[in-house]
Amino acid sequence: MSDPWLTGALVLWVALIFALERLAAAETPPPGNRRRILRNIGLGLIALTAAPLLLMLTGRLASGMEPLVSLASLGMLGAMLVQLLILDIWTYGMHRAYHELPFLWRFHAPHHLDEHLDASSAFRFHLGEILISAAMRLIPALAFGIDAATLLLFEAILTANAVFHHSNIRLPARFERWLSIVIVTPSIHWMHHHKIRADTDSNYTAILSVWDRIFGSRNPKSRRIGMAIGVEGEHDRSFGKLLAYPFVR
Ligand SMILES: [Zn+2]
Repeated sequence: MSDPWLTGALVLWVALIFALERLAAAETPPPGNRRRILRNIGLGLIALTAAPLLLMLTGRLASGMEPLVSLASLGMLGAMLVQLLILDIWTYGMHRAYHELPFLWRFHAPHHLDEHLDASSAFRFHLGEILISAAMRLIPALAFGIDAATLLLFEAILTANAVFHHSNIRLPARFERWLSIVIVTPSIHWMHHHKIRADTDSNYTAILSVWDRIFGSRNPKSRRIGMAIGVEGEHDRSFGKLLAYPFVR
């Protein structure tokens, strides 16, 4: 992130979730968890270096061109809110495509091969997925004239919620039930990581939970303690094998 306030807020948020996971864990972390976290951070560092640069580039390109659909009549704040909603729907659609198209699944599978979930899982993405997503994001950015600042703000909100919905925090059931009406919570997203393909192919939304309900991909089940996490029929790989996964499988 280029904005120091956004970066600072995000770092504090990650630290808070990391601490809460240790104070009130939902699941007991598996043996070798430290190595798993290091693997996730390794993939995350590669992705984190590339993602903001690609977003800035996308924003610069979009700012220099006349948008297909102008949102100027909504005012600055109104246009930005609509653009954030458009980016959330777009992210839903892309995530669904990563699951439904075998070529894209090769790049998304390293994220799903994680066999436990916590805040570090939110950073575990293959560089190939980051590059494909950035290239595809040019479509809404150019169509709706989304600038670099709005793209970065969306990315910060997305990352903050991804850290939360992957987290291994034990939340009061009633609080989470209410919260899940609006945003994606661990009880929703852990089902997306269930080691049963039918469940993996559901609950695609990243920020607002409404998109799965609208587009018919909401899984009525919610996270259970002890449920198997990962990809059905596969096991997690070493750092090098995860990087090579899309090309060799
Ligand atoms: Zn997925």
